[in-house]
Amino acid sequence: MSGPEIVLRGGRVIDPESGFDAVADVAIGEGRIAQVGAGLPADVLDGRPAGGPGGLPAGPADVDVAGLVVTAGFVDLHSHVTDLAGMRLQALDGVTTALELEAGATPVAAAYRAAGADGRPTNYGFAASWAQARMAEVAGLAPGGPLAGFLSRLGDPRWQRPADAAQLSAVLSRLAADLADGALGIGVLLGYAPAVEEGEYLRVAALAAEAGAPTFTHARDLIEMVPHAAIDGAEEIVRAAGETGAHMHYCHVNSTSQRHIDRVLSLVGRAQAAGARISTEAYPYGSGMTAIGAAFLAPERLRERGLVPSSLTYAPTGERVATEARLVELRQADPGGLAIIELLNEDDPADRGLLMRSLTFPGAVVASDAMPLTWTGPGPKTDPAAWPPTATAITHPRTAGTFSRAVRLLTSGTEPLSLARALSKCSLEPARLLEDRVPAMRRKGRLQVNADADVLVFDPAALADRATYANSTRPSAGIRHVLVNGTFVVRDGAIVAEARPGRPVRAQPR
Ligand SMILES: [Zn+2]
Repeated sequence: MSGPEIVLRGGRVIDPESGFDAVADVAIGEGRIAQVGAGLPADVLDGRPAGGPGGLPAGPADVDVAGLVVTAGFVDLHSHVTDLAGMRLQALDGVTTALELEAGATPVAAAYRAAGADGRPTNYGFAASWAQARMAEVAGLAPGGPLAGFLSRLGDPRWQRPADAAQLSAVLSRLAADLADGALGIGVLLGYAPAVEEGEYLRVAALAAEAGAPTFTHARDLIEMVPHAAIDGAEEIVRAAGETGAHMHYCHVNSTSQRHIDRVLSLVGRAQAAGARISTEAYPYGSGMTAIGAAFLAPERLRERGLVPSSLTYAPTGERVATEARLVELRQADPGGLAIIELLNEDDPADRGLLMRSLTFPGAVVASDAMPLTWTGPGPKTDPAAWPPTATAITHPRTAGTFSRAVRLLTSGTEPLSLARALSKCSLEPARLLEDRVPAMRRKGRLQVNADADVLVFDPAALADRATYANSTRPSAGIRHVLVNGTFVVRDGAIVAEARPGRPVRAQPR
């Protein structure tokens, strides 16, 4: 083994797993953390003088990180980003691994191939997609393809119909094939298909349990929202965990629970205490974002969530939807167009408290629900490699700011967590969530010898989100360096243009 290639010198090293929190050097080589210790001399590390004269090969590159925190890069379990600019915004928020687990992909092998062919700055991975499997087997739509196509079909009632026995078995076979191909779990956009029978969800959960794979669910409506519903969306997840033994991950508990967050979390907590395997995630924003054609955004259904048309901002134009008629028009003209939806009021202390409880709930991890960029307005549309993105590119601020914002919120206020605990919710805990099925995750979310060199270096005093609903692509502040598999993707606060060191994260099917 050759010597280290990079030594990060003199930073405050925080490893959320061991609790190590001290000033030390971190040596990186061959994509891994090679050594962590105080005052590592380059010549000892490398067996030769650093940058020696007389034609000797240069020693490891020393990077002075005094005064900065050095920790494991963030693991995002919930990223829909497929464009380079979106991935870079996430990297500038500390993310080194961005996984598409809620919507998922099918066939997953094609999704891994496409991501590998393009090259990505951050590590990537996919769950099998129940929604896309249904689009193929129930609606007869070709699977795969770009996210825009998927979003435009999300509100299409054809894929949401109850399945007959043959269709259900075809959906399950497709999911099983993806699991055998290394899918990280099964993503279930159940909330987008309110007519699907409960039994189908239990079959999907049973399949996951058999494969030892987690599921990632966008919950159905809560009973408070749709009192005549056959089952409460939160009860359904809990019940699937109890009945099948599957690990059920409850996606963005903040946005699907709205002002019922406390009720949902106490239900989850009771089920966990009784032994059910349920995990949760949240992002620290009061508004959501999804395709404007989604079933639950139909004008006649808005009031279930206490919404009115003007709770929606149509992202491509920045237009606040004025009337029901305009909403109908937009849903028909551009069903996949993204809309920002005001669910909780970030300026209201009670709502802010709800958001915070969704983040501080024991075991809840930070996950962004990051969205691809949409290029709006006249002029050249999209050069995905252009950096920074043009002013006409928009997304949800959670794409650019979730992790910095979460760390800042979690470490401030009246009951602040320690910095190490807050970082753990962004790195170690999401990695652990996947470890049973994905042994490769045991080397992520840690800053220790032999861990993958997915490393984040930030200035704790400056760390802050800067993206807003009006300026959604402003990168976070305070992120100084980000390395993925030992390669800089962010250096001195700037994107390294050519860097594509991201590697696939795959499950080990049993
Ligand atoms: Zn969702």
